[in-house]
Amino acid sequence: MMDRGNGTILFRNVVLLDGSMEKAKAADVSVEEGRIAVVAEAGDLIATGDVFDGRGKTALLPGFANAHTHSAMTLLRGLGEESPLLEWLKERIWPIEARLTKEAVRWGTLQAIVEMAAAGTTAFGDMYFFMDDVARAAAETGMRSGLCRGLVGTDEAKVAEGLALAETWDRFEDRCRVQIGPHAPYTVDPEGLKKLASLALERGLGIHLHWLETAWEVDHIRKELKREPLELLEETGLLGVPHLSLAHGVWIDEGDMKALARENVTVIHNPSSNMKLGSGIAPVAALVEAGVSVALGTDGAASNNRLDLWQEMRTAALLAKVARQDPTVLPARKILEMATVAGARSLGFDDVGLVRKGWQADFVLVDLDKPHYTGWDRENLALFLVYAGASSDVIGTVVQGRWIWREGVFSFDDETIRTEAKEWRRKLIG
Ligand SMILES: [Zn+2]
Repeated sequence: MMDRGNGTILFRNVVLLDGSMEKAKAADVSVEEGRIAVVAEAGDLIATGDVFDGRGKTALLPGFANAHTHSAMTLLRGLGEESPLLEWLKERIWPIEARLTKEAVRWGTLQAIVEMAAAGTTAFGDMYFFMDDVARAAAETGMRSGLCRGLVGTDEAKVAEGLALAETWDRFEDRCRVQIGPHAPYTVDPEGLKKLASLALERGLGIHLHWLETAWEVDHIRKELKREPLELLEETGLLGVPHLSLAHGVWIDEGDMKALARENVTVIHNPSSNMKLGSGIAPVAALVEAGVSVALGTDGAASNNRLDLWQEMRTAALLAKVARQDPTVLPARKILEMATVAGARSLGFDDVGLVRKGWQADFVLVDLDKPHYTGWDRENLALFLVYAGASSDVIGTVVQGRWIWREGVFSFDDETIRTEAKEWRRKLIG
């Protein structure tokens, strides 16, 4: 294990991609008490405490936000592979989830944090249950999180659990935000969605839900609920909550996109999960063109099966080009913005995701000395990262100026986590 540090550190002579993602520059970045204090030309700042020397060949960029996942599903990885979404959920996933315990969720979540931290992810958006234990796992490891208690139906006790989560954890150490989490429009009826939207408004909380993941879901809304999808968002008040995160959005109609181009709405694109479950190709290029904020997520480890934002960045970039048969759509710098600042915003953070004075110091450090970065320069670095880069290039992950992971070493006891996660998987699945 490694000491996390006290949140005050100078990152000297790094290759900074500050979030505008246009051009890299040689820089010194000083961090005080978890926030970015000064961004200067390389060589301009004098160290007074801890120093990380990038030696001109380490990129520093905002940390990645995995905006939609179900962390504890690391315990269910490999289960019911290659079956359709509803069959997979009903026959394989839900029966096992019904047997999950607090302890299992704790260790499954910690296992996910191990995987994410080593891949440069500094924040994750989680919808699951036993969320108190998820919040505790994030707090203990120093990870940033946006959490919601997943609601199938609007059982009062479960809704109350979700609100209690907000009471305890929302704004905890400025690293946690809590949302209300109706699972999907096919598991919570319109009345229920309306009730949750008004609770969100009343408490100043965001809403995170699965939205139009499969074509079946659109049919369900039209035939069973007798509405158009956009009407459902409007009449339930979901569009008016402080922040609305729509996970997947594969089947969003082009005609509805303008209505979603609002400051308080994010569509979270999960390309690998959508591909693996055969759900379809989300119209991301069109969403971006319509001005909709789009973030990236992995979804749970049982439907991806990686928790690796590098993989999602590359897949999102390639998939959009195939879908349009146009190599110019969704450029690398846009992809990086989706993986960083847009994700942080969707989780409820408005001072995370850019390397800017006063913002929280969440960074990923990348080794540009690897063979596949030969030829990078200030103009093309974003392209190298998205198309040639991989999580194995990460050499450090920093949240609030503190190391979570550095060159193979975690700031928490990852060995115990691996042992416990293995044991809980055995107990659940055999
Ligand atoms: Zn999901």
